[in-house]
Amino acid sequence: MLTRFFSTSRKVLTGSILAGIIVALLCGMLQFFLSYHKREAKFDTLIIDLRVYMESYFSDLKTSIDTLQPFTLSTCQDVSAELTSRAAFSVNVRAFLLVRDNAAFCSSATGPMSVPMKELIPDLDTTKSVDMALLPGTPMLPDKPAIVVWYQNPLVKGGGVFTSININLTPYLLYTSRQDEFAGIAVIIGNMALSTASGHLINVNDLHGTPIRSATLKDVPLTINLYAQEWTTYEILFALLFGLICGIAAGTLSFYILNIRLNPGKEILTAIKRGQFYVVYQPVVDAKELKMQGCEVLMRWKHPTMGEIPPDAFINFAEAQKLIVPLTLHLFELIIRDAALLQTVLPPGAKLGINIAPGHLHSENFKDDMREFAASLPPDHFQVVLEITERDMINQLEAAPLFEWLHHEGFEIAIDDFGTGHSALIYLERFTMDYLKIDRGFVNAIGTETVTSPVLDAVLTLARRLNMVTVAEGVETPEQAAWLRQHGVNYLQGYWISRPMPLAQFLKWESDVAIESE
Ligand code: C2E
Ligand code: CA
Ligand code: CA
Repeated sequence: MLTRFFSTSRKVLTGSILAGIIVALLCGMLQFFLSYHKREAKFDTLIIDLRVYMESYFSDLKTSIDTLQPFTLSTCQDVSAELTSRAAFSVNVRAFLLVRDNAAFCSSATGPMSVPMKELIPDLDTTKSVDMALLPGTPMLPDKPAIVVWYQNPLVKGGGVFTSININLTPYLLYTSRQDEFAGIAVIIGNMALSTASGHLINVNDLHGTPIRSATLKDVPLTINLYAQEWTTYEILFALLFGLICGIAAGTLSFYILNIRLNPGKEILTAIKRGQFYVVYQPVVDAKELKMQGCEVLMRWKHPTMGEIPPDAFINFAEAQKLIVPLTLHLFELIIRDAALLQTVLPPGAKLGINIAPGHLHSENFKDDMREFAASLPPDHFQVVLEITERDMINQLEAAPLFEWLHHEGFEIAIDDFGTGHSALIYLERFTMDYLKIDRGFVNAIGTETVTSPVLDAVLTLARRLNMVTVAEGVETPEQAAWLRQHGVNYLQGYWISRPMPLAQFLKWESDVAIESE
């Protein structure tokens, strides 16, 4: 017994740990997967936003420069004032330079000049219609990197407009430092790059790490690289924690469920200890006056996680687990606890119907248990009726003397669920029983058969002949009650009179309430 218990416990524990680990891995991976997708979407949005922003900036710049292209035919004196004001009103532009014969001849910043482009910016190719370069600084702002852009004027030999614009990555630096998954961005033109990581120009080959996203602008040879960390510590910690919590929850839950499934006996004993069982009382009324003459005590189990478990399930369980005796003793305790209050609504001699499972009936201590129970009830008040099913009378040799003893001790006996067992009639003749409880299956049939209920009729005649008092169970409709009363049934029990009720409700219940509906 003990080894079986331990091996079951070990099985439950191993199973639960396994379930916990699997769920932890699954949930952790799911969390990783989800944050991976979130990151991907974020990177996509950021790179698209950057590209669209820069493309629109350069397209605006091109439009401004197009209006300056005719100036390349003029003299610097004629256009320098206009050039200066255009530069002042163009966002981020440091200077516009007019170029003719491959030499800059007019600057918006310094006025007339004459410097060959090859000298000014050796990297720029003025034979191209558009070209770009990154500079560490310009004459006015030598320490501030700039982008220089060349737009050729095809109508003028070696002519075009050349502009230097500010490049400032500070906003991105601020942005990426706030988003801990981003490591930075880099702007690349030719073989030079400016990145949020260094702050000054570097060679492309000195950029380290592979960008997570990269985009090249449509009209200008500029590439933006986006860098990110593989995983942030936050994401890793979160996924680990999430997996851990899910794993613990799943492990605990499966431990609980497996314990109940593989170890139901322990669960019943625990439930007794924790007070999860309670009783409900269902009134039994006499058929003539419909006044309460007693009640049947029915057990309920309110499980903390599984909710209400029906008695049909746990009584059979308890019997299979050989725990019906402790469970019935617990039922006795619960009744004894309620007895003083029950006495206030049940008159002396009122019947207290208690279901006794066969496992208890034939147990060693049954007589002692019954004596002790009777002694703990208020003296000479309740008439305890033990409800026993026909199936339990199979052990006839034991049953006859036991019933005799019970009667001698002042208990009454009811045959429960009459008509559902086998060879019922033989038992009726052989044993002295006080009540016959007609199973609700028969009562249910009343009204459904067109004529009457011939079997029920025969049972009632037989019971009368044998001097047995009859109780009809499961009376649900006024038609059923009327039929039963006409056919001489002595007591009625069922939803038509009242459902089983917890003590507080039972104490307030008055039979008159139900009878009004008659
Ligand atoms: P039972 O002894 O036949 O108990 C009567 C059952 O019929 C109860 O179900 C009761 O709620 C239900 N009932 C009463 N009136 C009506 C009605 O008008 N219509 C319908 N459809 N049902 C009605 P419950 O409480 O679920 O109990 C089911 C069975 O569990 C009982 O059948 C009894 O065999 C067993 N049981 C309940 N409590 C105990 C207990 O404390 N000890 C033992 N050994 N068995 C118990
Ligand atoms: Ca019963
Ligand atoms: Ca019954």
